[in-house]
Amino acid sequence: MSGVLQQALSKVLGSRTSGSLAKLGLETVEDLLRHYPRRYGVPGELTDMGALAMGEHVTVMAQVRSTTVRPMRSRGGAMLEAIVTDGRDTLQLTFFAKRTGVLRMHEDKLRAGRTGLFTGTVGDYRGRRQLVHPDYLIVGLDAADEQEATLEASRPIPLYPAAASVPTWRIGRSVRTVLDPLTEADVPDPIPQALRELHGLPTLLEALRGVHVPDDQDHIKRSQARLKYEEALVLQTALARRRADRESHSAVPRVAVTGGLLDAFDARLPFALTDGQVTVGREISADLERPMPMLRLLQGDVGSGKTVVALRAMLAVVDAGGQAALLAPTEVLAAQHERTLRDLLGPLAEGGTLGGAQMATRVALLTGSQGSVRKRQGLAEAASGAAGIVVGTHALLSETVQFADLGLVVVDEQHRFGVEQRDQLRARGKSVPHTLVMTATPIPRTVAMTVFGDLETSVLTERPAGRAETVTHVVPADNSAWMSRIWQRVREEVDAGRRAYVVCPRIEGDQPEDDAEPDPVGDDASVPQTPATDAPTLDIPEAPAVPTRQPLEAVVDVAERLRGLPAMAGIDIGVMHGRLTADQKDAAMAAFAAGTTPILVSTTVIEVGVDVTQASTMVVLDAEHFGVSQLHQLRGRVGRGSEPGLCLLVSHAQEGSSSLERLTAVASTSDGFALAEKDLELRREGDVLGAAQSGGRNSLRLLRVVRDAEVLATAREDARVLIDADAALEKAPALAEAIGAWLGEREDFLERA
Ligand code: ADP
Ligand code: MG
Repeated sequence: MSGVLQQALSKVLGSRTSGSLAKLGLETVEDLLRHYPRRYGVPGELTDMGALAMGEHVTVMAQVRSTTVRPMRSRGGAMLEAIVTDGRDTLQLTFFAKRTGVLRMHEDKLRAGRTGLFTGTVGDYRGRRQLVHPDYLIVGLDAADEQEATLEASRPIPLYPAAASVPTWRIGRSVRTVLDPLTEADVPDPIPQALRELHGLPTLLEALRGVHVPDDQDHIKRSQARLKYEEALVLQTALARRRADRESHSAVPRVAVTGGLLDAFDARLPFALTDGQVTVGREISADLERPMPMLRLLQGDVGSGKTVVALRAMLAVVDAGGQAALLAPTEVLAAQHERTLRDLLGPLAEGGTLGGAQMATRVALLTGSQGSVRKRQGLAEAASGAAGIVVGTHALLSETVQFADLGLVVVDEQHRFGVEQRDQLRARGKSVPHTLVMTATPIPRTVAMTVFGDLETSVLTERPAGRAETVTHVVPADNSAWMSRIWQRVREEVDAGRRAYVVCPRIEGDQPEDDAEPDPVGDDASVPQTPATDAPTLDIPEAPAVPTRQPLEAVVDVAERLRGLPAMAGIDIGVMHGRLTADQKDAAMAAFAAGTTPILVSTTVIEVGVDVTQASTMVVLDAEHFGVSQLHQLRGRVGRGSEPGLCLLVSHAQEGSSSLERLTAVASTSDGFALAEKDLELRREGDVLGAAQSGGRNSLRLLRVVRDAEVLATAREDARVLIDADAALEKAPALAEAIGAWLGEREDFLERA
């Protein structure tokens, strides 16, 4: 479809203007109209000048107090000085010119008593704050007549996300140029009329007028609410359609049998299943018995016992004649899973051998780095069906690995099992395997609804009985007495036969960043992600989330330093990071587990799933560098036995900083879900879904996952009804179009789901 909205801005605006708008990523009429004001200035409400910080790029609403033009004796030429005020503090505007003529033009506009918007970088001149050559807009000056000027002075003035090269009012003017002539017919509305009427919402055109040329605050609110709902509806309809599509595929039902492997396994389990494990097990087996592919997300805090749940599902599938694949995010974890499964299964994993139980199956491990003999054996067992369970990394889904009858794929510790992998599964054969995705990163309901709207979710809330809690403390890095006490404590733990992790954000001092593991969803607090178009125009800028302090602690250096400490005399210290080969990692893990190197200095490669029961203590250095859920994950590595764990978050975070607040939150609760909610509260909204949701042209602009939970829920219901009645959205072409545009750009965003 190519209507007015799709027209290139270069066709409707001057080339200079469209050129600078292109720098903001605005290419079409619709791009510009969807470039909503970030906030509004009210001519009667002046900006608090006292809060302006030196060096900040600002847009302020202020009143001109005085303007003077004078020649400059020393340099020749002339200068204009205007003093603007918020009624209390003042700010100086300074313009220089060769001749006074140019300055007279400014002088004429900057008359005392007038109100305007002034944009520039706050500088300092003899202790006074000033803007040199600011861009500005005098309220009412361009109005055709007195009446229009009065109207302009009474209306909220949109302040746009702008850049130094395109001031906010130039954007505003461009918006007016394209918006003013539009009619309803030019602006197809993605919200079907019936829904618009049901919720009493304005049309898209009305809403665009309301945000760009508002009459008053109420007008803005109504319009924004509509645009928010539209975003939610597009998102939820996309998810509903995906889900309907999935349900149209067929899968082989895997019906549980009695007296099989699963029963035998339950009988030899040394502990009783928790209620949660039983419930989730039932949910999964009900899914498995259906002729359509399961896609279920199992959330369970660290240590909640997801592995057993997964194994029981896998055994049910094997009982039903199929195979199961368990995918881990790293080779270390794959190898560990294989060992765990073998331990749990005992003789039930010894199929085809003398010691094996009668109904036993086999567990095969397939990783990229294993020897060719083992690999060939694993491939053969997967292809013949001799291995009921095949463990590996995502490479297992590659075409070279053949399965006799793959019935279930379990993806561990991964919430980025996205569309591409799902397509890969689909491409494997006529029927799609059932899929269970497991994650220890608790996902608040609202986020789950937004990001995982097409998945079923199960939650394991309680932890198995008898597991001790981990105690967490925040320790200031600058306190050397505390620091030596920490290493002393680590020593005591080691002497008592236990182990300690020391986690650092980097690998080596002279290397830039750790390339280790992908972060869990949205766990990016260390990198404030501000899209380029966001930088200027905020009157009062937010403090950056994390003050950058160089250099950050690095594995290699810290290991060296610890080796030199008297407290560590006689203790071997291991290292672990993403740049080691798989063999080296395995060796490092094994040496740590065995106690040969009872202290392991590591990056976050140990983050997910690693299970060493004797590990009692974790020291996280530069802890403020990590996100809340990442820290929670990390700390889950200790206190896995019956001894309580100890986690020490060492940090340079300042008193009262948001970094410290995040660390304190981690220390104050061990409930992952409470923490995830807290994290959402503390985090800047835009970080919740990661960078992908800000910036792009069709991204979520106004919708906020936490704050707008209700809008999301409503839209979700509406989307379901729409798709049930009209899966192809034939009766809602504008909505289908919007989804297409959204998905085109957002694919990577859902990918991360
Ligand atoms: P996670 O959910 O973090 O993957 P695991 O599956 O690794 O947790 O389980 C953590 C530990 O708890 C394992 O040692 C496991 O054997 C044990 N476990 C699992 N379920 C129970 C249970 N019902 N009772 C006691 N211990 C359990
Ligand atoms: Mg696990």
